[in-house]
Amino acid sequence: MTTEQSAMERTSNDVHSFAKPAEAVAKHLDLNIDVNFDQKVLSGTASYLIENKTGTDQIIFDTRGLQIEKVFLGDSNEETTFELGDEKEFLGRPLTVKIKPDTKKVTILYQTSADAAALQWLNPQQTAGKKHPFLFTQSQAILARTWIPIQDSPGIRITYNAQVKVPKELLAVMSAENPVEKNATGVYTFEMKQPIPSYLMALSVGDLAFREIGPQTGIYAEPATIEAAAYEFAEMDKMLVAAEKIYGKYRWERYDLLVLPPSFPFGGMENPRLTFVTPTVLAKDRSLTSLIAHELAHSWSGNLVTNATWNDFWLNEGFTVYFERRIMEEIYGKEYADMLNVLGYQDLESTLNDIGAESKDTHLKLDLEGRDPDEGLTDIAYEKGNFFLQNIEKAVGRERFDEFVNNYFNTFAFQSTDTDKFLNFLRSELIKGDEALAEQINIEGWVYSPGLPEGFEAPTSTRFANVEEACQSWKNGEPAAKLNTKDWSSHEWLHFIRMLPENMTQQQMAELDKAFNFTNSGNSEVLAAWFIHAIRNNYTRADKALETFLTNVGRRKFLVPIYKALTATPEGKKKALAIYAKARPNYHAVSTVTLDEMLK
Ligand SMILES: [Zn+2]
Repeated sequence: MTTEQSAMERTSNDVHSFAKPAEAVAKHLDLNIDVNFDQKVLSGTASYLIENKTGTDQIIFDTRGLQIEKVFLGDSNEETTFELGDEKEFLGRPLTVKIKPDTKKVTILYQTSADAAALQWLNPQQTAGKKHPFLFTQSQAILARTWIPIQDSPGIRITYNAQVKVPKELLAVMSAENPVEKNATGVYTFEMKQPIPSYLMALSVGDLAFREIGPQTGIYAEPATIEAAAYEFAEMDKMLVAAEKIYGKYRWERYDLLVLPPSFPFGGMENPRLTFVTPTVLAKDRSLTSLIAHELAHSWSGNLVTNATWNDFWLNEGFTVYFERRIMEEIYGKEYADMLNVLGYQDLESTLNDIGAESKDTHLKLDLEGRDPDEGLTDIAYEKGNFFLQNIEKAVGRERFDEFVNNYFNTFAFQSTDTDKFLNFLRSELIKGDEALAEQINIEGWVYSPGLPEGFEAPTSTRFANVEEACQSWKNGEPAAKLNTKDWSSHEWLHFIRMLPENMTQQQMAELDKAFNFTNSGNSEVLAAWFIHAIRNNYTRADKALETFLTNVGRRKFLVPIYKALTATPEGKKKALAIYAKARPNYHAVSTVTLDEMLK
């Protein structure tokens, strides 16, 4: 086949999916699976209602590591032939099913492999309750295909129903309408009426309890965690109200949270109707809940209007960070949101440093062909995306910008958009030929150029000015215990720790630790930032806490910089490898893929 032909045949422009949705596309999924904790496999059927757009004789699904037993057509379940193509690294294998021009239904009998990357099977010891096993999925970016044969592209949307059979003492929940209590049969049914992209397919099974927060909101967690979670997230209803005030009605009916065991690799995952969240935000003081604002904001940017390919990831994350900060501003005021902006800017700077400010990977519009999207997605999409949108807001004023964003969400609701579509919409609905405005907005500089555009003004924070002052007086010799740190939030502490000198003496480290108890902090953000200094300055008094943290927590955002700091010296690397050998079974594949590479 010539390259010209293959380009023509590739009817989707998603380089991370084998599907050809312009020819034959799935519209609805009926999933019927058994969850087997002993063998660590899911097995059952994925039955699709399809649309054959061109009268083609085949439909293609994505699979990775799946065992396909049989495939049937129609309601009469007539067996058909299928072919699994060659395995491609991280993409898996295309499943090509023979269909007829009038085929409406395709049923695939399959089972997962024990090492399916989306699935993390936890033994009882790895849970808060220690009595029952636990399972959760992480489908983003292209891992849905490791637990369901599916057209695994964010440009394709399906509705779904599911029936899931689990051990009787456990509850199953999905990114769908959910049960609130266990039943005697262990069989649960689900319905997701709104069409969603495959990366939002989600399932979790465990000893779960439910607690209502508001009329539309609630929390699922292990019984051992539910009280702490209900306290920490008591303001989620307020957040929903604030979000609706800014960008209109929430379109998914309920908004619930599922608090996972600590090995969850991300802060949160915006599975529709049921955000999955790390327990590392349970700080006991509600200080890390901007993460919930972020996941909630995805109910508009991402879940409602979806990036069509992973190259357009900034449309999901840039909008979501922008919206998250607006929600936090609405509830806690501008000074609070300013702190988040400054911390975000610091993250962005360090990412630009890491990948090089001239790298094409710092463009908003990415080119991830030939790469695992999960490895190519960085803070750029989040923070540079956010600052681009803040820049537009600044140029046209908040009122006009909000009107535009509302219009954008309504126009593309339950659809996918790519960078071109968004930029065309921006030109036609907001810029409208105003050349001075176009220059201010600077699409070229933000979207198709590396680093940050010339003239970009870094965000500032008045609350952080106090922190900087305190840090400076400590550097000038003021005892740590005498610094004015009254009423500091997690964000102020994080800023303070980040501002500390790279090189400190044992006495300085011990003095700070004595005054502020960093090594024993119950706040994961504070701990993770402090450990970096402890490692750099060989502050061995933190060793035990560090090891406990690394063996319990699986959140990649914390693990990567800590392991990286450890590997900077030969002794540190030895320590890292010893801890990693112990901790690795507790990490999700999303984290081990990154860490295996770093520690090999
Ligand atoms: Zn996000």
